[in-house]
Amino acid sequence: MPKPRTAAATLVELGVNLANAEASATVPVTCKRCRSTHDPQRSTSHYPNTFCSKTCESEFLRVELAALTLDDCIRLQAKLEKLLKLVNEPFPFENKQP
Ligand SMILES: [Zn+2]
Repeated sequence: MPKPRTAAATLVELGVNLANAEASATVPVTCKRCRSTHDPQRSTSHYPNTFCSKTCESEFLRVELAALTLDDCIRLQAKLEKLLKLVNEPFPFENKQP
């Protein structure tokens, strides 16, 4: 039996899919939700190369993220904050003068 996807895996996969769709789109674009073709210049979506409208974007994301809970989001935010703290700390071997 396949292991269920974690919330983090769901978000990462969604992010990668949206980034790939935005980067690889050619005109006219096929909406990832309703499959209609559209001109990205006329889309109201935050991802005009992926969705024809804000409505399609919202519905697609609602379905994709339906399994995520508030606890998942809080846990992921805590993990991201830990990662960001690490990024802001100097690397142990940096800034040492020879
Ligand atoms: Zn659409």
